[in-house]
Amino acid sequence: MGLEEKLPSGFLLTTVEKLAGYMRKNSLWPATFGLACCAIEMMAIGSAGKYDISRFGMEVFRASPRQADLMIVAGRVSNKMAPVVRQIYDQMAAPKWVLSMGACASSGGMFNNYAIVKGVDHIIPVDIYLPGCPPRPEMLMDAILKLHEQIGNEKLGVNRAKIVKEVEASAIAATPIHQIPVFGKQG
Ligand code: SF4
Repeated sequence: MGLEEKLPSGFLLTTVEKLAGYMRKNSLWPATFGLACCAIEMMAIGSAGKYDISRFGMEVFRASPRQADLMIVAGRVSNKMAPVVRQIYDQMAAPKWVLSMGACASSGGMFNNYAIVKGVDHIIPVDIYLPGCPPRPEMLMDAILKLHEQIGNEKLGVNRAKIVKEVEASAIAATPIHQIPVFGKQG
């Protein structure tokens, strides 16, 4: 929303936040693309009546990224595909969200080799991670509902700037990974 940086603080901003969150979470359109086996499970929620994703107005996966605001990264991301995934993300309408579906998209999964990106968050920001290999359609539905909740509670304007500062401060204060003791390792 172009005006959000100019919004005032206080009661009015809270009301605008709630309204914007309600509208955004109920008008998500996913981009049409899949990368590997996880995409089959993703297709199930768009095609099988028992999952009925149309309850959320999401059943039409958009063929153009410009008409989509949700990217479901379904499958492993190869180094060759990484620039393409980034380009699709860049072309999507803002504000936009990313759901990393499955172990491969989130961490490279079982593919410990040079061809696979070790987590799609190396190339685009991720809003929610979904574990599993592959996650079942029910799990994807659950992740979408959790993302709805997250979008519905998103802050705008000065409230957002405050949260960004807090998150940055806690990231700086966190123990670096190389200093965290490995569980079960002696010495
Ligand atoms: S997480 Fe499993 S099902 Fe999904 S892309 Fe990787 S190997 Fe395939």
